[in-house]
Amino acid sequence: MDFNYVVDQFADIQILRYQVPGFDKLSLRQKQLLYHLSEAALMGRDILYDQNCRYNLMIRQTLEAIYRNYAGDRTSDDYQAFETYLKRVWFANGIHHHYAEDKFIPGFSETFFEREVRALPVGELPISEGETVDMFLAKLKPVIFDPNVLPKRTVQSGDQDWIAASANNYYGEGVTQAEVEAFYGQKKAEDSSATPISYGLNSRLEKVDGHLEEKVWKVGGLYSEAIEWIISELEKAVPFAENDKQAEIIETLIAYYHSGDLRTFDAYSILWVEDTESQVDFVNGFIETYGDALGLKASWESTVNFRNEEATRRTQIISENAQWFEDHSPVDTRFKKKEVKGVSAKVITVAMLGGDCYPSTPIGINLPNADWIRRDHGSKSVTIENIMEAYDKASQGSGFSEEFVWSDTERTILRKYGFITDVLHTDLHECLGHGSGQLLPGTDPDALKAYASTLEEARADLFGLYYLADPKLVELGLVPDSEAYKAEYYKYMMNGLMTQLVRIEPGKDVEEAHMRNRQLIARWAFEQGKAEHIVEMKSREGKTFVVINDYEKLRGLFGKLLAEVQRIKSEGDYEAGRALVENYGVKVDPALHSEVRARYEQLHLSPYKGFVNPVMHVEKDENGVVRDITLDYTEGYVEQMLRYSRDYSYLN
Ligand code: ZN
Repeated sequence: MDFNYVVDQFADIQILRYQVPGFDKLSLRQKQLLYHLSEAALMGRDILYDQNCRYNLMIRQTLEAIYRNYAGDRTSDDYQAFETYLKRVWFANGIHHHYAEDKFIPGFSETFFEREVRALPVGELPISEGETVDMFLAKLKPVIFDPNVLPKRTVQSGDQDWIAASANNYYGEGVTQAEVEAFYGQKKAEDSSATPISYGLNSRLEKVDGHLEEKVWKVGGLYSEAIEWIISELEKAVPFAENDKQAEIIETLIAYYHSGDLRTFDAYSILWVEDTESQVDFVNGFIETYGDALGLKASWESTVNFRNEEATRRTQIISENAQWFEDHSPVDTRFKKKEVKGVSAKVITVAMLGGDCYPSTPIGINLPNADWIRRDHGSKSVTIENIMEAYDKASQGSGFSEEFVWSDTERTILRKYGFITDVLHTDLHECLGHGSGQLLPGTDPDALKAYASTLEEARADLFGLYYLADPKLVELGLVPDSEAYKAEYYKYMMNGLMTQLVRIEPGKDVEEAHMRNRQLIARWAFEQGKAEHIVEMKSREGKTFVVINDYEKLRGLFGKLLAEVQRIKSEGDYEAGRALVENYGVKVDPALHSEVRARYEQLHLSPYKGFVNPVMHVEKDENGVVRDITLDYTEGYVEQMLRYSRDYSYLN
């Protein structure tokens, strides 16, 4: 049976569906564990909306009320633009673009919005006590329509106050960047332990009567209602744990949600990273800090998954050889780990995505983030193969390759080796890249500040790129031959130099860490190899193409840059890190930029993709005993979003 990967398309977004192969073969007990973890994964959705901007929930509720009650012509321009806007808000978990971070401006008129709000039954509006509809509209209209109000979710460049300029909700009103830096700087300075907690990770920092106070996200604190629901599902999951250790992991997470104590979070993270036995696994909590300008506060996210046993053999081979890779990397010996610990790598199949992993989804995960836990206990690294497969399948036949790839030589290589080297690059990035290298003693782990995320991604990507071309990979049987790596090299350079620009709005810089990283690497290698024509940008019939003339020398450049980025991280060389990112990762060539956008537009290709989840059905017998859990792949994007808003809304 043919599987329908493409679900919906709007604005710059395509919605796909992923399959969960192997789910049917799991035991009923495992399926029940996955079910309860999946419920918990959906229950934190509102938290992320509120973290992204304090008006997001209110706006989503208002838009959904209009959607449900609209009595006018659903084919009118205003209504069509309204529907697109609502779909975008769902996709971004708020009013700012999920990737570019800019507020998107509606295509419908203020008059339309005002008329529809006034037409709603009063009970449908998220109005606070004592607030009139006039006051409500006066509050929301500028937030939605005025491009100068809350223009950007996270500001991480320029001379302005990043905290004050960011629209996100990680800091209370009136809190300045200098105050945040002083507040957490002091806490870190006072903590001389080798195992410091992740200061600020799970709280909003607010100003109360002139002094700063952390409002912790926990039971009895901020987001308590949602967290209590998450806990109730986690409690239901415990009896189905695959072993005692896994039960302890879930119970420790519950304890952390109760207390908000970051020591307990560390204890949980250690138990979690050490569990390599269980087939079912999950992430649920305040994890990644990309959304905070200072990289302290974590957004809420969840993934629920199980190990793909067959594909995991591939990453096991990589892990077993981790020390070899570390020893042979082009990095200065002082910055290498003498002993690479616990690089536990696996390939997983996701069964549910939530929070900051939905609908836009990572293809690999490497956790935990705390440097000392990684150092002392290792990290868990995963490649999400069923998501990568959905991307690959959906892109076939889109016309992209015919438009952007230089010649049939490259196209043949890409067809032959594209998927395997792409997956392998993710494996290497996650299993080895992030876990490699060490800080020199005394280096502040936060020394690279806003540039840390970009440089960390660059380090991991470069590690993967460098080794993809190593004869060791052929020897280990991971790639079929010594030509295969060229597929990923070509794809990487084409994307970093050119095609990823489609994601940037005209006139804007590159902002997002992963994109900055890819442009940094591609631009740097291009510039450094210019004299020798290692990589060229050629023009044919008015169109620009990337041509790689010398793959081996390109590998040499990747190795050189890897050594430099590792030095920057190990020494905490902020100035050098800043220069690399600002000189190569941020600025955009306007002519090339508009060319790429035009070519994309002509092909009707969406620069961004995301996913709907399967629906899990609990099948019971006549006595109410669970007989089976089955997956349904028929739910549409709008249906799913409305259902989640109806069944999993706990905050307002
Ligand atoms: Zn990464």
